[in-house]
Amino acid sequence: MIPPVLPTYSRAPLHFVKGEGSWLIEEDGRRFLDMGAGIAVNALGHAHPALVEALTDQAGKVWHLSNLYEIPQQEELARRLVDATFADTVFFTNSGTESMELAVKMARKYWYEKGKPEKVEIISFQGAFHGRSSAAIAAAPTEKMVKGMGPLLPGFKVLPHGDWGLLKEAMTEATAAVIIEPIQGEGGIRPLASEDLKTLRAICDEAGVLLILDEVQCGVGRTGKLFAHEWAGITPDIMMAAKGIGGGFPLGAVLATEEAASGMGPGTHGSTYGGNPLGCAVGCAVLKIIADDDFLESVNRKAGTLRQKLEGLVAEFPDVFDSVRGQGLMIGLKCKVAPADLVKAGYDAEIITVPAADNVVRLLPPLTITEDEIAEAVTRLEAAAKAVSSSQQAG
Ligand SMILES: *Cc1c(COP(=O)(O)O)cnc(C)c1O
Repeated sequence: MIPPVLPTYSRAPLHFVKGEGSWLIEEDGRRFLDMGAGIAVNALGHAHPALVEALTDQAGKVWHLSNLYEIPQQEELARRLVDATFADTVFFTNSGTESMELAVKMARKYWYEKGKPEKVEIISFQGAFHGRSSAAIAAAPTEKMVKGMGPLLPGFKVLPHGDWGLLKEAMTEATAAVIIEPIQGEGGIRPLASEDLKTLRAICDEAGVLLILDEVQCGVGRTGKLFAHEWAGITPDIMMAAKGIGGGFPLGAVLATEEAASGMGPGTHGSTYGGNPLGCAVGCAVLKIIADDDFLESVNRKAGTLRQKLEGLVAEFPDVFDSVRGQGLMIGLKCKVAPADLVKAGYDAEIITVPAADNVVRLLPPLTITEDEIAEAVTRLEAAAKAVSSSQQAG
């Protein structure tokens, strides 16, 4: 019999009833060190006092207002994002997928208004993940996501990741935009080098094609810059954000230059909940903390510690781990065992990690994690690795 909750997820039998900073507390009292942060969502950990205050304060005033009216919290958050990034303008959504939808529509509308309605094709890359809408799965069509779900939204071309010669060849008069994650998240923490991002920017400029960056997972301080592309010194035309931007409140955004957004006038797009006062009040509180040089510096410092300790762990368990990769607090442990086995052994050691494609286990801790918690995380990962390693040898 089908359960009351549609069975689209395989869930671990864990019942968390409370969160405190980097910790999740199970119903039975066990304290799990949360190195997943709701897949990079709880960027400031659980129940951060500034976020609790922003949420409860706004909750006592007004939760929802239609976008038929002006929403000061939305204006403030947009202003903060514009001031802190390449963008001239922002549209608020409730998720990464919704940000993907608008990014695609905005790129197509841009060319239509420029008198080039033939430019509709979006080029994306294998291993990418852009969400679960019909457009998003057309851009990243893995078998489990698309089988039986067709027809997919047309106008997408998916290329091998990292072959820029092929990208150049694949561009035609119909190409509207290229979309890419600076660091693939679901794909297994596969980072692009700064040189790659520079090359991509140059290829797009040369071909007169828009560059869309999907920073839903790697953005909002995760890599030690406010947005990951800043490491490469390039800027996109359109950028998607979500996950960490709301610190746990469902919030997403599309950031764009004035030029790229020029097709989007009144009535061209909208959302009932997008940019609601509650979400934007929390978003402002998140950004106030993260868009700060000292805070980002602390992320980089802690990332250095974690990275060094993980290199040691990989060296200690060569039968379990292949390598460490990623940037900042977006780390992938490439495994020689099934990632699910390591994640499960992690549960026994009371540490939460997240599996990804390409045989990778992800570490995406709250950006507020402490040095002591990092040391504790590595101790617990060591216990998990030991368990997996000895069961390997036994099996
Ligand atoms: C999670 C994710 C999305 C989809 O976001 P949802 O909020 O789940 O819709 C899109 N792109 C990337 C890179 C993501 O990690």
